[in-house]
Amino acid sequence: MKTLGKIALAVLGLLMAAVWLVILRLKDVPPVALVTYGAVLVAFLGGVLWPGRLGRRRALLFLGVPAGLGTLALYFAVVFYVTDAPVLLGAVAVACLLAALAGGVRRGRGGAGPSRRALLTGGAGILLGALAGLSTGPVARHRSEIEARWRRETQAALRAPGGRRPVADGRVRVFPLHVGDTVVPYGQFYGGLDGWEGLPGYVRTLVDKAQITVPVHAYLIDHPRHGLMLVDTGVNGAQAHDHDGYYRHNLASRLLTERNEYRLTPEQDLRVRVARLGYDLKDVTTVFLTHVHEDHAGGLRHLAHARVVLDRRDWEQGTLYAHTFEEVQDALVFPAYGSGPFHAFPESHDHFGDGSVVLLPTPGHSPGHLCVALRMDGGTALFLGDTLYTLPHLAVGQVRQMTVGGQATADQLKAAERVRRTLAADPAMAPLFAHDNTAYQTEAVATAFREGLPEADGFRRLRDHLGGVLTPDWRLRPGHAPAFAPGEGVGRVEFR
Ligand SMILES: [Zn+2]
Repeated sequence: MKTLGKIALAVLGLLMAAVWLVILRLKDVPPVALVTYGAVLVAFLGGVLWPGRLGRRRALLFLGVPAGLGTLALYFAVVFYVTDAPVLLGAVAVACLLAALAGGVRRGRGGAGPSRRALLTGGAGILLGALAGLSTGPVARHRSEIEARWRRETQAALRAPGGRRPVADGRVRVFPLHVGDTVVPYGQFYGGLDGWEGLPGYVRTLVDKAQITVPVHAYLIDHPRHGLMLVDTGVNGAQAHDHDGYYRHNLASRLLTERNEYRLTPEQDLRVRVARLGYDLKDVTTVFLTHVHEDHAGGLRHLAHARVVLDRRDWEQGTLYAHTFEEVQDALVFPAYGSGPFHAFPESHDHFGDGSVVLLPTPGHSPGHLCVALRMDGGTALFLGDTLYTLPHLAVGQVRQMTVGGQATADQLKAAERVRRTLAADPAMAPLFAHDNTAYQTEAVATAFREGLPEADGFRRLRDHLGGVLTPDWRLRPGHAPAFAPGEGVGRVEFR
């Protein structure tokens, strides 16, 4: 029986060690450190369960100390976040007090008073408890310092000289805004045809270290009748620079999320981008949110005064972090999709009733994803959100992003097909993507929308660029198929 118990304990111990080691591997701890640490853990477990000549006490001391210190070191190196400080101190304080109490009770039963050791342990417990309480202040200060630094940096960027002056000439203008970057597994972005689908796909997002950085694009619309509007809002400073704090992660969820998933420079902040174009974010009246994902909704915290238009299904089934919507949750508008067909789409929502902005349901990437068609002089801008990440993704038979699986994948493909048929039906329509990392965005779109006015000529050039990348039956031409190129840390995408 005793042996059986030991075996059970050993298996449990090894299992816990294995889980911890896997998590550390996900966090990119060097293999040498992991192997050494794993060996110490196994030796420690063996020494405690089968003490042999060494004796249990010595085994605890010689192997337990390095195992414990190693665990602490790795925890502090890869998992620790500043709000843990009071929690850790408090936990050790409680452990000390309990130990002191147990010691005191044992001696009390024998008729003696508390031992010196019990008094010392109890005293340490009280001291650590006090420290835990005192540490909450500095911890809160540390977080507000991060926020204050970001505020200073964005304020400085706002005041920097230069930038454009707005022109009020009654024309519809659109400005692409590069509002941050996100680090994603290459397969999540381009591997939909290589098994990145459903639950296995999500597991791979955790373990696959072939990562790339992709841009996050939002779009500013200056409309003579409907005012200043946005399609999506990008990433905010706290998501990028106080990730664990912003997402209120606990120990467990922090272990499984990527702390460095968002990048944002002060110049990329939504408020700064909009100000450099001569506008004030406070004048934005309407935000069209293609979907509720975090890299599209981060800027909402600066848009408390705006109406936010998004699909009801996304709001009810798709939101992961409700506090991203805290500032706007009372100003949500859900489209009814009762405006009849729009090219290949059987249903649409003519938002203002004048045909200027038409919303198109494209569920799949999220339960209620939508696209936005904006009529401009000379053509139509079609904002695709994440229905298709980039221009090459229009070749869905060759390049596909990760999909949720099941019905969502079928919906996603149906949406992509409707987008393609709509583009085919209107040669003066140009797709605008949320994460395009090709020359289409950096050269063609950037040039056509430099002053916000592509006009007929600009739309024609964008479609020419599209025609240079894709054949009329939506196949990629040579030189445009994405491939992963490993790099230092984060890799790159090459087009071959
Ligand atoms: Zn996105």
